[in-house]
Amino acid sequence: VSDAPRPLIAGNWKMNGLRAALQEIETLRDAVRAGHVGSVDLAICPPATLIHAAVQACGGVLSIGGQDCHGAPCGAHTGDISAEMLADAGAGLVIVGHSERRTDHHESNPTVRAKTEAAWRAGLIAVLCVGELREEREEGRETEVVGGQLAGSVPDGATPDNLVVAYEPVWAIGTGLTPTCEDIAAIHLFIRGELVTRFGEAGQGIRILYGGSVKPGNARELMAVENVDGALVGGASLKATDFLAICACL
Ligand code: PGA
Repeated sequence: VSDAPRPLIAGNWKMNGLRAALQEIETLRDAVRAGHVGSVDLAICPPATLIHAAVQACGGVLSIGGQDCHGAPCGAHTGDISAEMLADAGAGLVIVGHSERRTDHHESNPTVRAKTEAAWRAGLIAVLCVGELREEREEGRETEVVGGQLAGSVPDGATPDNLVVAYEPVWAIGTGLTPTCEDIAAIHLFIRGELVTRFGEAGQGIRILYGGSVKPGNARELMAVENVDGALVGGASLKATDFLAICACL
């Protein structure tokens, strides 16, 4: 499929990683430099404390991203980090709307939309997460939920250069469970349709990642599904060897 977007494998370290973990970034860098990673874009989103050092360690051969940003440019928001600060630290992207943020920090669709706009103002690619809860899937409401999240949190003006959508069913995150390939194909096709309806041709090129218990052992079949343009990987991104094994499945 020659006109499919170049795949992206993005690692989300979540609240994991002390400075010793920068070794993993160096291992990834060396693998890319040695030509062991094919035509796939790599990104790692370490905790904010490591972003600057990760940028230095990665030698420019993979992207480094944040896991969240505030929707405001700067100001009195104790403990928060602006998109501009991430960009200043050398980040190229930022995850917004991850389900753990939507749950732990009560982030609504309008909040996620504001964060995405903030990311764009700072010149970052937003990796915007959507996905249904287990009950919603059991009730057959996954397209309704994901459609609502896309409508509510994706701002106008999305392009393949500023947006990546990550479909992450909440019940598949960190559980070892994944939807069937048929179910992933159906919802990725739905997301593609929504993006094309809103953004026309640009919607064809926006990458749609699958996330939720992606491992070296299942990545090949998951990544082969139509309209799956890569993966957002949590647990299996913490070790460079696992992450590289996933990248080798593209
Ligand atoms: P997991 O997490 O790969 O550990 O399931 C994915 C994510 O939350 O991005």
